[in-house]
Amino acid sequence: MIFSPTVSATVLGDPHFASDKRKMLPSLADLSIRSSSHIGVNKLSDRVAPLDGLAGDGWRLTKRAKKRNDEELRDQPVPAGAISFVIENPLDGKLWSLEGLKELIESEKTNFCPTSYCHYGYDYRKRTGFLTSLRGLRLSPACPQKPCREWSSHSKHKRDIRNDVTDQNERNSIPGPLVDVIMEEWIKKTPGKHRLLIDVFAGWGSVIERVNAKFKGEILTYANDIKNRPGNDIELNMFDFDLDCIIQFAKLKLANLKLANGANGSQVAPEETNLAILLWISTPCETYSSAGGNTSRDSGSIEPKTKKAAAFDAMNTKFAEWLLRVC
Ligand SMILES: [Zn+2]
Repeated sequence: MIFSPTVSATVLGDPHFASDKRKMLPSLADLSIRSSSHIGVNKLSDRVAPLDGLAGDGWRLTKRAKKRNDEELRDQPVPAGAISFVIENPLDGKLWSLEGLKELIESEKTNFCPTSYCHYGYDYRKRTGFLTSLRGLRLSPACPQKPCREWSSHSKHKRDIRNDVTDQNERNSIPGPLVDVIMEEWIKKTPGKHRLLIDVFAGWGSVIERVNAKFKGEILTYANDIKNRPGNDIELNMFDFDLDCIIQFAKLKLANLKLANGANGSQVAPEETNLAILLWISTPCETYSSAGGNTSRDSGSIEPKTKKAAAFDAMNTKFAEWLLRVC
């Protein structure tokens, strides 16, 4: 679904914004991002979280095929009007084996960063992959390939995500220092721009909360989640909406901020012509993660066994195709 500027103006209830917003909408050609590179990863020797055969290896196989990009491109700033993205999911899950995601990992435009949360202050490991258009991003490689302090000293972690972390809020949270590293890289590559972070699957809100606390004045945020939780801006079911649609909704928030700012004149109004957008996509991992057993997919296979798994594949393929085209 394409959300037209006219519809946006109708939602806003002010026809004045129809012409205004039409001018502000960037064309697809304006939205290209020039940046790339990726981190080398050591061979596997993970004794704690064994991989689920070939299906969990998608990112590794595609990375091998990907050409190394030069440092010069990695350090280029994000061009005006560009949309950046971060996709987060379990490192050893099967999302990365989905055809569209593999293509995105292979693209010169992206950078795949494997890491684990024990490097960022958590007392459990949670190996996680971050696929991003921020090609200069560097994260600490995943434990135990690069062992954290705890693993180096005791060959174990204080807690295990599968057995000891039962609170859903905690299980789904992303360490604040890790969020900071990503935001700092984005800020570095978008000097002098207004920044809008759109959390597409905000969940319990750990990313938005951190950014609002640490980057107030530097990054505006917009949170979507299918469940109505405090702090959300909207509740879209992303099976039914495209990424450009959520961007249009987020821009409405900016338009409203402009109205409010115009009234009291106390804040800088975010200008869309000088706007950088970062899509944070923590797509639900329930049908991809090894924690779900073989209910959604057979061991070693990406093929969906349930309607739900097929629906997630369709949604994520839709996102990957859009990101490959637009970013
Ligand atoms: Zn560790």
